[in-house]
Amino acid sequence: MEELIRKMLAELGENPDREGLRRTPERVAESLGFLTSGYTEDIDKLLDGSIFEEEYDEMVIAKDISLYSLCEHHLLPFYGECHVAYIPKGRIIGISKIPRLVHVFARRLQVQERLTNQIAKTLMDHLKPYGVAVTIEATHLCMAMRGVRKRDARIITSAMLGAFRTDPKTRMEYLELIKSGSRAE
Ligand SMILES: [Zn+2]
Repeated sequence: MEELIRKMLAELGENPDREGLRRTPERVAESLGFLTSGYTEDIDKLLDGSIFEEEYDEMVIAKDISLYSLCEHHLLPFYGECHVAYIPKGRIIGISKIPRLVHVFARRLQVQERLTNQIAKTLMDHLKPYGVAVTIEATHLCMAMRGVRKRDARIITSAMLGAFRTDPKTRMEYLELIKSGSRAE
């Protein structure tokens, strides 16, 4: 990896041996390793020890989870907030596991649409709740920095499963709850 990054620096017209760049290949390799560490995380292990039986059947929402990922088309970051909701069917999940699950999928090369679906589907499969909703609002640096679109263009994606898909009232309630007090830019 370090050798590839050295080559890339040279290819960009830089001198990889100048002082400021000397340790860059090592740093980039380490940082990319971390930013893609989601490939090796064991999701079953992460979730299954943290699912508990509980007679609670109202909507649970984890709001404004900060999200940083890399777009697979340009290897540039996209970042923003993720909201995750579910309606338990006799089983709840330790609340800290929801952001961790978001981070596992975010630390891979992604497109925002797939990232949204993966989070929703994984929770649906493991928790078997009445429904799961995931919304991601993110700014893509590949758009902002390359001037393809407006600098502040935000992309919003959502995945609605189970009751969130079939019951308009549930979906509305969710959309109201994620809207209120949502972080303004
Ligand atoms: Zn991109």
